[in-house]
Amino acid sequence: MHSTDGALVLFSGGQDSATCLAWALDRYGRVETVGFAYGQRHAVELACRAPLREGIAALGEWGARLGADHMVDLGGALAGIGGTALTSEAEIVMTEEGLPSTFVPGRNLLFLTYAAAIAWRRGLRRIVAGMCETDFSGYPDCRDDTIKAMQLALNLGMNRRFVLETPLMWIDKAATWGLAEALGGHALVELIVERSHSCYLGDRVHRHDWGYGCGACPACELRAEGWRRWRESRA
Ligand code: ZN
Repeated sequence: MHSTDGALVLFSGGQDSATCLAWALDRYGRVETVGFAYGQRHAVELACRAPLREGIAALGEWGARLGADHMVDLGGALAGIGGTALTSEAEIVMTEEGLPSTFVPGRNLLFLTYAAAIAWRRGLRRIVAGMCETDFSGYPDCRDDTIKAMQLALNLGMNRRFVLETPLMWIDKAATWGLAEALGGHALVELIVERSHSCYLGDRVHRHDWGYGCGACPACELRAEGWRRWRESRA
C-alpha cells in the first residue's frame, strides 16, 4: 500500500540512508532526497550518492517514484566550529563524556531543520532519516526523544504536520542488512555493499565482503560486525 504522502529522505550515501531510501520508496508515491556537505573528512560519501541513488532507482518500480535530489552546502559552518574528528584530521577516540570524538554537536538537528525547510517548499509531509539508538555510538542527536522533540519544534515553527520517520531507530546493524534484503532482495544488498559508503576515513580502496573501508574506524567496525552477524543469522 502506497501512501499519497510524499517523503524527503536524508540521504548521505551510507548504508543506513540507502536502506531508508528503499524503505520510503516502498511506501510513498513521491520520494525526494537531500544530502549535506559540511566539510566531512569522508566527503567521498557525497560522490557515492549519485551512483547509489541511480542503482536504487533502477530496482523494480522505484524509479518512477524517485524525484529530485537536493544538496545543501553548509560550507565551513560546522567545520569552522571545530573540535570534532569528523571534520578534521583529529584522532578518532572516545572522549571523557563517553562520546566518540566524531560527534559533531547539533549536526542532526541542523540537518533536520534544513530538511524540513525543503519539505515545506516541496509539499512533502514525511521526513525519513536513518538515526538509530540501538547499536550506534551514543550520539545524543540520534535518540528517539531528540527526534520526537524536533518533530514538535519543526511543526510548531513551520506550522506544518510533518512526520519524522526513523525506520532504523530500534533495529541493529545486522537487522538493517536484513531490512534491505526484505525490501529489495539480493540486488539491493549488493548495491549497498558496492556503492554505499560508511568509513569515516573515506577509504574506497580496501574492499571487504561488506563493502569498502579502512576496516578499523568505528563506522567500519559497526558495518562489518553487523554484516557478520547478519550472515551468521542466515546460515
Ligand atoms: Zn573506516
